[in-house]
Amino acid sequence: NTPSGSTALALEQAHTARNYAPLPVVISQADGAWVTDTTGVRYFDCLAGYSALNFGHRHPRLVQAAVDQLSRVTLTSRAFHHDQLGAFCAELADLTGTEAVLPMNTGAEAVESALKIARKWGYEIKGVPENQATIVVADGNFHGRTTSIISFSGDKDATAGFGPYTPGFRSVPFGDTDALADAIDATTVAVLIEPIQGEAGVVIPPDGYLRAVRHLCTDRNVLFVADEIQSGLARTGRTFACDHEDVRPDLMLLGKALGGGILPVSAVVGGWDVLGVLRPGQHGSTFGGNPLAAAVGRAVIALLRDGSLQQRAQRLGEDMAGRLDQLIGHGVTAVRSRGLWAGVDIDPAVATGRQICERLMRRGVLAKETHGATIRLAPPIIAETTDLTWAIEQLAAVLDER
Ligand code: PLP
Repeated sequence: NTPSGSTALALEQAHTARNYAPLPVVISQADGAWVTDTTGVRYFDCLAGYSALNFGHRHPRLVQAAVDQLSRVTLTSRAFHHDQLGAFCAELADLTGTEAVLPMNTGAEAVESALKIARKWGYEIKGVPENQATIVVADGNFHGRTTSIISFSGDKDATAGFGPYTPGFRSVPFGDTDALADAIDATTVAVLIEPIQGEAGVVIPPDGYLRAVRHLCTDRNVLFVADEIQSGLARTGRTFACDHEDVRPDLMLLGKALGGGILPVSAVVGGWDVLGVLRPGQHGSTFGGNPLAAAVGRAVIALLRDGSLQQRAQRLGEDMAGRLDQLIGHGVTAVRSRGLWAGVDIDPAVATGRQICERLMRRGVLAKETHGATIRLAPPIIAETTDLTWAIEQLAAVLDER
């Protein structure tokens, strides 16, 4: 009982909330870096589920872990223990070089959880007066869609009509250490940033910024919270984007690829000095840390252990960046890249980002624009070099189309 592509589109149009404007492709199968639509046409996936599919669609080891767990137990709730959770948390703590893990489901939940933990840490450990805690964030941020998170977004589409907003946040220019230092005061409990701003268009801060943030946070007794939900888990050529500056945040937020593209798995990781502020009854989630999520998460961590995927992202990314740089002046105004992750700014005189994505789709490449004029390229890390080269050739070709 699989609907045809046109039926699927019609049903969505009639019954699905219109909070997205997808490209008109209806995917019915996927394997590795490629997806197939309902008519059998194949597309190279250059979005990879906003980096949730870093390891490709249906990675055999991840599917196997899920299938094995499906045949045992999938959900217990946290009212009882199960045999996967401790191992998942221990292995994730090991991967991140820290001690403790709070398992959640979506990225936004991990961010919300970190806001709560940082505030509680501020009141209980730092001694900030009750209800006075502030958190400093960066302009251009994207941390999710919940009410508190949009309260510190600068994106009018994300915020307009959704007030009243949660107080307690200050935003400063991303990459500006002096502005950050000025924004921190005695009420500040945390600095929350993406080490690289993904939704903003793969915006990379100046060299040394993450180290400076780390230094500032230590110096001023403020938690450094790094949102690695999109940047983490091998995307940038290292396990975490913070690794590029050998920086360890106090809390790291993970999501997306942690669930291997199979189910939502997110986490807040950090030391007991911070995560220890949570006690029974103060925070929770019916599905957070469920056996299926923990089993898939463990298989993801195992994939990352020997560093080969990270190296592959670095190698493929260098090749991709070299090819993309050649498009500057030919319909592209700028390219920013780190590992297998690039933001490509399209010359508005040539086309909008959306138009470029529509043209790419007609040539068998799926990508997504962000903020109108930027195309984000983040193919699965398991992609073949030849496929990636071909996809960039398609981009060069569509930039010439009129
Ligand atoms: N944080 C970052 C950096 C993200 O890129 C995203 C999603 O794009 C989120 C948080 C929110 O994740 P989710 O959509 O799973 O709630």
